[in-house]
Amino acid sequence: MMNKNTALVVFSGGQDSTTCLFWAKKHFASVVALSFLYGQKHVKEVDLARDIAGRAGVEWQAMDVSFIGSLGRNSLTDGTLKMDEEKPEGHCPNTFVPGRNLFFLSIAAVYAREHGINHLVTGVSQTDFSGYPDCRDAFIKSLNVTLNLAMDEQFVIHTPLMWIDKCETWALADELGVLELVRNETLTCYNGVPGDGCGHCPACKLRRQGLEQYLARKAAK
Ligand code: ZN
Repeated sequence: MMNKNTALVVFSGGQDSTTCLFWAKKHFASVVALSFLYGQKHVKEVDLARDIAGRAGVEWQAMDVSFIGSLGRNSLTDGTLKMDEEKPEGHCPNTFVPGRNLFFLSIAAVYAREHGINHLVTGVSQTDFSGYPDCRDAFIKSLNVTLNLAMDEQFVIHTPLMWIDKCETWALADELGVLELVRNETLTCYNGVPGDGCGHCPACKLRRQGLEQYLARKAAK
């Protein structure tokens, strides 16, 4: 029997998944945060994730899936590769980790099934500027069907951020009462600097732009 009241959040400790963690806390009686070690250069990301889950008062689990980072070359796991700071013409920036969300969500579903959970939450967004294919709605819907067929279960993948931009993601964090926590405690920066970050990597630029936009909008009210 699936536990209808528990959600499993794929949790990196970044702005998006932290906002999703608190979204899940609002909508489900119980929440489990699952973090993945995939060979990312900034392993403190995982310590931060554990701390945030602790502050949120939810159960936290970490899983080592570092084979993912070594399968294909990308600048998040390969220190010798210079990170693309702009989106290259016609293809994904080299911050794309091929198969990451496919693996993460598939593993999360197996884990969830073992624990009688059928609600999965992920912070992917189609409005993400990088255009990662595994962040798109069509992929998530397709995977949802595949997971259900693969395990004969009724998983529901929730994507609270799918159609909103960074400004609206900050608005959601504020609405959930965690704007300051998300701003100060999470790590989105590709250079591993928590909070407001290094300021110049693509993730920091996007995050700051959204924040400035949101704070201006809020001040104007
Ligand atoms: Zn940065």
